[in-house]
Amino acid sequence: MYTRVRDLLALGKKNNACILAFDCADVNMIRSVCYGAQKARKPVIMMLHPTATLKNVLPFSVFAHTAKYFANQVDVPVGLHLDHCSDFDEICRAIHDGFDSVMADGSILPFEENVAFTSKVVEVAKNFDVDVEGELGHVGTAAESDEYSKKEMFTKPSEVTEFTARTGVTSLAVSFGSAHGLYKYPPKLDIDHLKELQAATDTPLVLHGGTGIDDDQLKAAFANGINKINIGTEFYMLNTRLNKEFYAQEDFVPYTYPDYIVPVLTDYIARRLELCTVTL
Ligand SMILES: [Zn+2]
Repeated sequence: MYTRVRDLLALGKKNNACILAFDCADVNMIRSVCYGAQKARKPVIMMLHPTATLKNVLPFSVFAHTAKYFANQVDVPVGLHLDHCSDFDEICRAIHDGFDSVMADGSILPFEENVAFTSKVVEVAKNFDVDVEGELGHVGTAAESDEYSKKEMFTKPSEVTEFTARTGVTSLAVSFGSAHGLYKYPPKLDIDHLKELQAATDTPLVLHGGTGIDDDQLKAAFANGINKINIGTEFYMLNTRLNKEFYAQEDFVPYTYPDYIVPVLTDYIARRLELCTVTL
């Protein structure tokens, strides 16, 4: 059933657990997240990365309506969230078009400018009762550098206290050793650093770059303040492989591709959701 992200984050926080959030780029992925959650009996969040809209995969309103429609086909809680957006006007468009949880990513800005940008989004979002995830410190891209392992890129605990108090964000993405995309070498999360971040705020913390981190490190992060994790790359890659496989068949029937793809994606989601320790 369609559920607000703030309620899912509260569920995670109450259970000292993490809600898994998956980036979706088409209807098969949306359906699979819902069905996988149903199969695993776990809460989940569907996300749209704005790049998918810019490339005309799915406009905001179509994505939001489709996501809510399929969320209401299952009886476990399913949320909807706009992933990384650094463009104020685009965030406003997403809110207008049905997203009630958005990310305002000002992480590449200097601290004061990040506070200003994020506060501006929160101010608008509040008027429409919309949740906002901010980002402090920078979760970079794994393929471009190995900076994710450098401590100077990590979120500073003292800034977390000030940032959450001044902006009023619903949740905060933090940096303590992860990166987006595929890692050049296995990442090592700094759990001691995360403990300091957790002690600095009551705001739920978010881990980005969930692809390629081993389960033991993820469990340690979830036990120490991470209440939401973003997973994109591995889900996209599986979806791409299944599409290729389907169309590589010599005698495929075109409209049957969801029957080929959705069950496998659903199993993947259900298996990943074993990491969520929330009991419904
Ligand atoms: Zn991210």
